[in-house]
Amino acid sequence: MASYYRVMPVDVPNTPSTPNGFFLPVEVCRLAAADVWIFDLDNTLYSASSNLFPAIERRMAGFIAGRLGVTLEEARRRQKRFFHEHGTTLRGLMLEHDVDPLAFLEYVHAIDLSVITPDPALDRALGRLPGRKLVFTNASRRHAEGVMARLGIARHFEAIHDIVAAGFLPKPDPRPYAGLVSRYDVNPARACMVEDMAGNLAPAAALGMTTVWLRTDSAWGQPAAGDTAHIHHIIDDLPAWLGALAWSGS
Ligand SMILES: [Mg+2]
Repeated sequence: MASYYRVMPVDVPNTPSTPNGFFLPVEVCRLAAADVWIFDLDNTLYSASSNLFPAIERRMAGFIAGRLGVTLEEARRRQKRFFHEHGTTLRGLMLEHDVDPLAFLEYVHAIDLSVITPDPALDRALGRLPGRKLVFTNASRRHAEGVMARLGIARHFEAIHDIVAAGFLPKPDPRPYAGLVSRYDVNPARACMVEDMAGNLAPAAALGMTTVWLRTDSAWGQPAAGDTAHIHHIIDDLPAWLGALAWSGS
């Protein structure tokens, strides 16, 4: 039974199971063997439906308008271009306008987090999930800590690999992935990464990690040209999916 593993998820999306439901293919086995779980923050640990991220994007546009002396409409256009050409708005501002990254991060994350409410289902699921847990975010540590405190899940996480720790090189630049692996002594073959931006999973898969795409309606989150070769699992609801994983491990 080399390619099968006895697990007890009642409902693992996109995975065929036997009529008895307890013997699942090797991709699921790799989830069972994972000893490090790496989670994106925004629109992953909380639902995109909270509309927190659009508030951050409005702050980004406001920052650009003020810094570059352009209208909000023009600022939004530039923000989209920075994102497409440089991976994040911040990277574009740093490379093209020599913006102080810390000033940008402080400005854009000065938002009302009250739309984020405690998530006891996610808290329970993380508590039952074996292995170390890390957050890997293109945002700042302070923002991540605020969001995780609101969700009531901070206690599960060993560390936050934020954009400062990443040397301001945002996902999907492969360098911060290698930095995370090295800094936290992660064996990629036994790591699983969960993300709402499909493109951000490609470097993780290239390192040998198992990948989970939390799909949303966001146009930016979709796989480029429909390429899903680097995506091993596709899910719609993180707390429900994690909660359904109850490994028997034999
Ligand atoms: Mg995200």
